[in-house]
Amino acid sequence: MTQSRLVLIGIDAASSTLVREWAAAGDLPTIAGLLRSGFDATIATPLGVLEGGIWPTFLTGTSPASHGMFSHLKLKPRTYGLEVGMYADRLPVPPFWTHLSRAGKRVAVIDAPFARPVRKLNGIHVTNWGAHDPWCWPRSSWPPRLVGELVRRFGSHPVDTCDAKDRSLEDYEDLRARLIAGVEKKTSLLRHCLERERWDFFFGVFSESHCAGHQFWHFMDPRHPQHDRKASEALRSAIRDVYRAIDAGVGTILGSVGAGTHVLLLLSHGMGPYYAGSHLLDLVIERLGVNGTCAAAPASRAEGTTAGVSTPGRLLWTLRYLLPYELRLELKSRFPKPVATLRRWIGRPDSNPWCRMRAFAFPSNNMTGAIRINLKGREPEGLVEPGVEYEALRKDITDALLALENPETGRPAVQWVARVEELYEGPRLRDMPDLLVEWDHNAPINALCSPRIGRVSQAFGGHRTGDHRQNGLLIGRGFRTGEITERICTQDIAPTILDFFNVPSPATCEGKSALPFLRNGWLIRPEDGTPAKPPQAA
Ligand SMILES: [Zn+2]
Ligand SMILES: [Zn+2]
Repeated sequence: MTQSRLVLIGIDAASSTLVREWAAAGDLPTIAGLLRSGFDATIATPLGVLEGGIWPTFLTGTSPASHGMFSHLKLKPRTYGLEVGMYADRLPVPPFWTHLSRAGKRVAVIDAPFARPVRKLNGIHVTNWGAHDPWCWPRSSWPPRLVGELVRRFGSHPVDTCDAKDRSLEDYEDLRARLIAGVEKKTSLLRHCLERERWDFFFGVFSESHCAGHQFWHFMDPRHPQHDRKASEALRSAIRDVYRAIDAGVGTILGSVGAGTHVLLLLSHGMGPYYAGSHLLDLVIERLGVNGTCAAAPASRAEGTTAGVSTPGRLLWTLRYLLPYELRLELKSRFPKPVATLRRWIGRPDSNPWCRMRAFAFPSNNMTGAIRINLKGREPEGLVEPGVEYEALRKDITDALLALENPETGRPAVQWVARVEELYEGPRLRDMPDLLVEWDHNAPINALCSPRIGRVSQAFGGHRTGDHRQNGLLIGRGFRTGEITERICTQDIAPTILDFFNVPSPATCEGKSALPFLRNGWLIRPEDGTPAKPPQAA
């Protein structure tokens, strides 16, 4: 039996395209070294759930339709109200390292997104010392006193939350500096935790890449409509600088582990310019007439702009990232007016117009639109019969969405529309949208047109300028070398790590171990240097 150790470092929502490019250009020497000497494999992320579904899928090895965490806001089951779907106690099964702990492995986990501390873990678990979504669970740890010790030693992470409206250039400079300082502090904290003892499994996550991608994309990308030529070089290189700091941090951490330690680097999911049309989706539904309004919009209205017209759906759309942050402000007894409106609306579903609609769009994931059918027997005041009527309505809406054009590019505005059961199966499927609408992400979408709906327009009003893209990247040392072309999905990573330690995956796990792909042709080298047989021959 081998005594192999595994160090897994997560880099949250860092673009693997940029990482490869900057590694090749010499900006990321640690990652470049790992790419040269180890393996790399594209990780297929779950479709249509990029903001909510990635980390819970990784934590549990199950699909979003099983764990039920797939979007920031979601419909509260059996109501027309919305709730935050991503609080860490929503995870229906414990994260996979619980099974390592139960098998007697010593485990250390620092800042795994959306994972609250596992009580009685055989090791340590720190939640939200410094993460992109710290509202998902209070900063805490196992053992409980540990997080206080870490804060006394390292202080708090310098970025509390990266979202803010109306930042000045100075504010952006300040955020950039605090993100880089945060990476440096996190590196020290991770190294300190790593060196506490000889862990079997160590897992630490850098989240500053996630914040940098959302907030700084327009400074880097000259094609972005908010690109500012006069912005400083520091702002234009902010994303690269944050990645460079993380690369240096990874180098420091790897400097404290022996050459015989297996290392995995996980880039969870991607990042690109935030071009999507979800903010226009309720206007499109309105024009389709599926809820009884006029399908053929009058020419004047069809050509007009809808800016300034605010439906509850669009109000929620505008507020969707700020919600947990504003909820914290609320705890301090401050009630910004729109949030009070939002809360009233969420809290009183009877005032919600969705109960009188056959189909409605609601804010779910940023890059993928979500439509719910008001289905009899599922929704409290369902209007659409299951079966033929349900399918006909979904087909009608799908056809109309696929016909939408972006008038600024003359190209189709929608890549695909999927009925949810084409993508997923699981017990929480009925909580998910009935239709997922994947926008074209190659250009901003400020208007949509088709012969059927005429034209609707509203400039995208969000303050984020970067948002998620499909696919992550797994890089490894101590396994085989070269590019791995077999398909590996986010939900395969947990069973792969359990398999690495010869710990069986729980019955709930839906992913498959990718270890046979990773170890093809390699031999485990225990740290005492004696050659060992591959595990399959043991
Ligand atoms: Zn994000
Ligand atoms: Zn952030």
